[in-house]
Amino acid sequence: MPEPILKISGLDAFYEDFQALYGIDLEVAQGEVLAIIGANGAGKTTLMRSISGLTQNKADMVTFRGDRIGALRADEVAEKGIALVPEGRQLFPSLSVEENLLIGGQIGRKGPWSLSAVYELFPILQERRNQQSTSLSGGQQQMVAIGRALMANPDLILFDEISLGLAPIIIKDIYAALPGIIGEGMSALIVEQDITKALSVSQRFYCLQEGRVSLEGASATVAREDISRAYFGVE
Ligand code: ATP
Repeated sequence: MPEPILKISGLDAFYEDFQALYGIDLEVAQGEVLAIIGANGAGKTTLMRSISGLTQNKADMVTFRGDRIGALRADEVAEKGIALVPEGRQLFPSLSVEENLLIGGQIGRKGPWSLSAVYELFPILQERRNQQSTSLSGGQQQMVAIGRALMANPDLILFDEISLGLAPIIIKDIYAALPGIIGEGMSALIVEQDITKALSVSQRFYCLQEGRVSLEGASATVAREDISRAYFGVE
């Protein structure tokens, strides 16, 4: 494998006395799409938060393009080129669609993504650009959250629960847009409840169980029984 763009080594994470992640080791190559799967409470969101600077880590637990970013704040991590599409969207409710998108662009990183590129990807957002973001459907709000992350022109994009709570037709649209999103060498980590979907869009996967990596491997060749065991912990 070429030098990874993201390298996580021995990552622990805590909520006060509760340990949510135990010694996670994970690598993402340039241009690679990785799926993160696991049951509710396995630690997927905590992993996304740890990478994006929303939890306190030790500096050398997370390395991005050779820089030790584990102890950086979320805004500093974003400037390095990592963008998060958070669980539950977390849009700014009083702002319009376009204002939400522009906030993502404030980082000022150069790259292929701009307002017009996001509107080309999701034309409905251009139609709704002056509407308050909360007046949109859940699927359209997810498009805004994705567009906001893209506006930062990241090298690595993290999708947390990309399809949770969305109608199947919208999920299809969002997955259809993924190749265009991830093209041009961008790497991605995708947290997804739907294991079949997660495996179909990724090259490799990591399965978490109670805060530990229970299985990792190639998405195309993993056996279903192995996934079930790693996911549910049943023998
Ligand atoms: P889900 O699919 O439900 O989002 P997840 O795999 O993303 O699950 P996390 O949200 O990372 O899991 O949670 C991992 C563990 O940490 C769970 O046991 C959860 O209860 C706990 N946890 C998460 N957030 C907090 C918090 N703010 N305070 C205390 N414990 C937390």
